[in-house]
Amino acid sequence: MQAAVFHGPGDIRIERVPDPRIQEPTDAIVRITHTAICGSDLWFYRGQSEYQAGWRTGHEPMGVVEEVGSAVRHVRRGDLVLAPFAISDGTCEFCRKGLQTSCVHGNFWARDLDGAQGEAVRAPLADGTLVRVPDRVEGDEKLTTALFPLTDVMGTGHHAALCAGVVAGVTCVVVGDGAVGLCAVLAAKRLGAERIIAVGHHADRLDKARAFGATDVVSGQGPEAAAKVLELTRGGADHVLECVGAASSMDLAIQVTRPGGTIGYVGVPHGVAEKGLDVMTLFFGNRTLRGGPAPVRAYMKELMEDVLAGTLDPSPVFDMTVDLAGVPAGYAAMDERRALKVMVKL
Ligand SMILES: [Zn+2]
Repeated sequence: MQAAVFHGPGDIRIERVPDPRIQEPTDAIVRITHTAICGSDLWFYRGQSEYQAGWRTGHEPMGVVEEVGSAVRHVRRGDLVLAPFAISDGTCEFCRKGLQTSCVHGNFWARDLDGAQGEAVRAPLADGTLVRVPDRVEGDEKLTTALFPLTDVMGTGHHAALCAGVVAGVTCVVVGDGAVGLCAVLAAKRLGAERIIAVGHHADRLDKARAFGATDVVSGQGPEAAAKVLELTRGGADHVLECVGAASSMDLAIQVTRPGGTIGYVGVPHGVAEKGLDVMTLFFGNRTLRGGPAPVRAYMKELMEDVLAGTLDPSPVFDMTVDLAGVPAGYAAMDERRALKVMVKL
């Protein structure tokens, strides 16, 4: 089969790789119908995080089950399924707590596993990892595109909102206008936030944030953006959603958090450890930092119900669609910021 393979920074190629086979009785083979390129894929694409030549890519799989191992009970051949970016068994202490990204048998797609940017994957721990989608979704492209972001960005935005303590009636600030930031706006709106201030620096993305429910947008970066948010909120918000992971956005999030407030952070930190976290501002304002890799598996059923009911639709985060052969061009478009998020349809 064909799949995307990383060869070095800026060099993703589609090549022939071995077909996936059942290796464990708990495996399933999933033929990919939809996948995507994630903002976090750009870290290795740009050479900003360790990634080995030869590793496959992609961690947002949706597709049809082709074959299951003898121990798989919850999915069958022919089922349309979604999988989160993290593999989980669904049975350990952390999975039962809804913290599947800490699963004791967990793993992540690509690297030593198959990547979602390919014709098929071997899905380990299929009963824990895969989530069945109702049959009526198959062939309904609009519904499929609305459900698909539950594999990663929508669940991650939701996690940011939950970690920041967003509930009905609050004012919150969303730092970042990438796909996760936009989904965080949707999630905050869905949880009933009254005022949602989106901070970013791309006019077209901030327009999308408004369409998703942001009541205010602040265009800018650094201390200048922080000053604008502090003015709008008269001293900061109680609920801040950090959706980038860069040192500068973490700083901004801390600066716009009101004393006693909480920051939900979901972007993989990059450069934060090196630059140092502003612990003194956190400490002296009793500000809380909560978050980590989103257990999107825990949120899939709840969010899926809303998508199927027509009350939640994150699909506008996609502004480019490619086929498998178009994956390298999709990376380039996202890297050059010509695309916000690329969907890959096989
Ligand atoms: Zn587990």
